[in-house]
Amino acid sequence: MSAWYEERQSALKIRIDNGLVITMDPRRRIITQGTVVIQGNRILEVGKTAEVSTRHPADKVIDAQGKIVMPGLIDAHLHCVQTLARGLADDVDLIAWIYDRIYPYEALLTQEDTYVSTMLTCLMAIQTGTTCLADPGGYPMDGVAQALVDSGMRGIVSWAGMDQWSSDRALPDNLPGKKSTEDTLAAMEGLVKKWHGREGDRIRASYALRVEPNVTRQLFRRTKELADRDGVLIQMHAAVNRDQVEWVRRHTERTTIDYMNSLGVLGPNWLLTHMAILTDDELQMLRDNDVKLCHNPGASVHGAYGACSVGRFPELMDMGVTVTCGCDSTAANNSLDMFRTLYQLATLHKEIRVVPDLLSPEKALEMATVDAARALMWDKDIGSLEAGKKADVIIVDCHRPNWRPLHPFSIVPNLVYAGEGVDVETTIVDGRIVMEDRMVKTMNVPAILEQAQATAERLVARLPYTLAPRWPVE
Ligand SMILES: [Zn+2]
Repeated sequence: MSAWYEERQSALKIRIDNGLVITMDPRRRIITQGTVVIQGNRILEVGKTAEVSTRHPADKVIDAQGKIVMPGLIDAHLHCVQTLARGLADDVDLIAWIYDRIYPYEALLTQEDTYVSTMLTCLMAIQTGTTCLADPGGYPMDGVAQALVDSGMRGIVSWAGMDQWSSDRALPDNLPGKKSTEDTLAAMEGLVKKWHGREGDRIRASYALRVEPNVTRQLFRRTKELADRDGVLIQMHAAVNRDQVEWVRRHTERTTIDYMNSLGVLGPNWLLTHMAILTDDELQMLRDNDVKLCHNPGASVHGAYGACSVGRFPELMDMGVTVTCGCDSTAANNSLDMFRTLYQLATLHKEIRVVPDLLSPEKALEMATVDAARALMWDKDIGSLEAGKKADVIIVDCHRPNWRPLHPFSIVPNLVYAGEGVDVETTIVDGRIVMEDRMVKTMNVPAILEQAQATAERLVARLPYTLAPRWPVE
């Protein structure tokens, strides 16, 4: 008997009985009338209720009859500080989105603001079945990390490094990310030192670079060295659209991944996001270096990046590259419902290529669970319901019209094609029930909604730009 198993004997035991358990284990078993036993923050056993339940008297038993029990979804790219920017950057091109709309907004944020923004983010995540998020970086980040602590979410925080700017990619002077190379490295390193492994490893930290036109070669190289030394991830937006890649070509005579490869920095701890514009050679470079990719279909269709229409994700997955997914931001998607992302993954590519089985609903679910865990370097602990893993579990209510009829052959297809975040009834993170029967237990929901509205109105009043309704609001 392993040490963790013995340790768990003394912790609170929760049993979820009679569920339709989508395990995401290596065999991808789906267990009818199944039980998941949780002790402390880990899963103790998964199996048939009739066999498992008698062995495990529990402190709390949840009856999941007619409901799906599955791993919590992982949002591998979610900007917590941008949640109060919902509505500020719709229907503009990427360069205007970043430099005209979002950086001026981010320049105004205090730790209190990013705390409120992240509490709203976590509320939406918990209510729609997301149990882990990777934040690719904003400023300031202590407010983000503290909100993850308080909300009960699992997550990765980072400081998005930027150490160069040009007139066509100008940064607001008061943007906290606008720093020298040395100061950027110190900010990133400080965040990793402060937050990585906190709350019993529920909170992690990573290195992050914002976007390639704002990163010097020295920052690329030294960030990689630090991330290797610390054994953590590096998150970055890369090859987001044609305009960005052309900028890199003009300045380096190479396209983005080719340029990073020439610097010798590619490796398995990169999580590169968007990645719409890639050459055939670059696909090979990504595979050969086991680089992880994050596809945000909602952001791509909202901002017209091209990741679905001209991106190469189906080919990359065929080549064995790990591709995960995310909602990105309420300013770029604008939904944080991962069920919507699953639907987009399993539909958009098929339509664009006119190939009806190009990306299956089962693959989409893998991208948001087991593949996401691997991409975040967290696969020993999360991504599936298996004995020994951390207990990140959701219960999906199938007693709703979008779940009828349901057959053994349509369980995952129905989840992806017809499921919705509001179907999620109970959310467990790290063995703690953070939402039960749609009642969020870790936060005061009306207070968070009120604070979010008030904070956003105060921020919008201070922006250097104004937005007018397109239709008369009387
Ligand atoms: Zn992003």
